[in-house]
Amino acid sequence: MMVEKDSCMYCGCCASVCPFNAVIVTDYDVQVTDACTDCKTCVKACPMGAIQ
Ligand code: SF4
Ligand code: SF4
Repeated sequence: MMVEKDSCMYCGCCASVCPFNAVIVTDYDVQVTDACTDCKTCVKACPMGAIQ
């Protein structure tokens, strides 16, 4: 997964919905770990369309 940092507002919605706890959101960064299965649940949840 890629995060468009210019669009991201670090709301944490992607991390909240990830079934595999694969997203780590801090105040200034979003990281997707190797636990990601590419299910795209986070893509649908992001209000900014920032994670693809
Ligand atoms: S849901 Fe979208 S805007 Fe919110 S932290 Fe995740 S990538 Fe950023
Ligand atoms: S694609 Fe699925 S597993 Fe990967 S970070 Fe998004 S919600 Fe989590």
